[in-house]
Amino acid sequence: MDEYIERLKDGSLKLYALEKELPPAEAVRVRRAFIEGETHTALTGVGSFSIDIDRVVKRNIENMIGTVQVPLGVAGPLRVKGEYATGSYYLPLATTEGALVASVNRGCSLITRAGGADVRIMRDGMTRAPVFAARDVGHAHGVAAWVDEHIEDIRRAAESTTKHGKFLDAATYVAGTSVYVRLEFDTKDAMGMNMVTIAGQKVGELIERETGARLIALSGNMCTDKKPAAINLVRGRGKTVVAGVRLTDAMIADLLKTDADTLAEANYRKNLVGSARAASLGFNAHAANVVAAMFIACGQDPAHVVEGSSAITTVDRVDGGVYVSVTLPSLPVGTVGGGTGIDTQRECLTMLGVAGGGDPPGTHAKAFAEIVAAGVLAGELSLLGALAAQHLARAHQEHGRG
Ligand code: NAP
Repeated sequence: MDEYIERLKDGSLKLYALEKELPPAEAVRVRRAFIEGETHTALTGVGSFSIDIDRVVKRNIENMIGTVQVPLGVAGPLRVKGEYATGSYYLPLATTEGALVASVNRGCSLITRAGGADVRIMRDGMTRAPVFAARDVGHAHGVAAWVDEHIEDIRRAAESTTKHGKFLDAATYVAGTSVYVRLEFDTKDAMGMNMVTIAGQKVGELIERETGARLIALSGNMCTDKKPAAINLVRGRGKTVVAGVRLTDAMIADLLKTDADTLAEANYRKNLVGSARAASLGFNAHAANVVAAMFIACGQDPAHVVEGSSAITTVDRVDGGVYVSVTLPSLPVGTVGGGTGIDTQRECLTMLGVAGGGDPPGTHAKAFAEIVAAGVLAGELSLLGALAAQHLARAHQEHGRG
């Protein structure tokens, strides 16, 4: 140990190169000891964990020194009536926000009492949009036209890189001499960003070769990955999912301690008018809370909370109650690849019956998306109800303080 720490200190051994000389578990231990010395910090908690180091250092992390632990709670049972997820589920929620699990749990009770959430996937396609530089506007127009006329060539190039991925579409956008080709794929049970990036490289090279436009970057930001963007809301990215439930006046009174008109007005003035006035990209109460907590628990890429949480919440006044819905236009989720195989995250996916590849491929990721959307609906209902009944501050005092 000391020998390696000395070499790290004098710079003859790089921190990232420890795994080249030591087995992964030992490399992590030495690196942590070095950082403890450099930062004068005991990392006892960071260094105590159960996940398989060999697996994560190969696929998920560089310069590993340990883990941070996030408390995991459950909300449910939540009845879901989707096309791919049907039944009662306990939602794994990893969070440090007191009151969140209790709030989602209340929403789950309400939805379950109402017979369950109807959930449907409206669209499914992961995108990558390389950017090309054309010589002038005429050339840019020609590049876009070439793409439109050679969809089958693009499909062949894209699908040569993957067994599971299926090419869906190539939409072109021009800004001056920049041409963006938004490639879209059905990535089955993978969230698909690596898959579509690898396929995008092949397609980018083909377009460059055939049109003479220069491939500038594999991602030209019209994908749009991990940045808030209207294109994801309008055209969808990942899964576009909608969940809804009908609540009677009695259910609203019993569980939310408010009434249909108050609930509808709170949604109108807060989620719709308030969000419009703020020029928000999401029209919801706190979709990000459920998306983030489920993403962290289930090994999704947490940076995708950016687009995953841009939801629209509606409350329609109907005879004898309300119909409440959430629409998530851009939910990037997967049950294979990325962080989904890490031991603890995989256990959470297993709780939902969606770990690994589905049969047929794609059905697990779709089921997971439906469950997340139903969870978001539960969160929206509970918070909206608390706001309508003026109970929000009290709930946080009871659960989040002390
Ligand atoms: P991945 O871990 O790179 O790959 C998943 C692979 O699993 C697929 O390519 C596929 O191989 C295989 N597979 C096996 N069974 C499958 C099934 N039933 N359905 C679909 N695929 C199946 O995962 P990814 O979802 O493509 O990428 C996720 C990772 O990308 C995350 O770690 C995320 O953080 C990261 N990420 C990358 C970028 C980027 O630009 N590269 C951007 C954002 C996030 P075949 O293709 O051979 O069929």
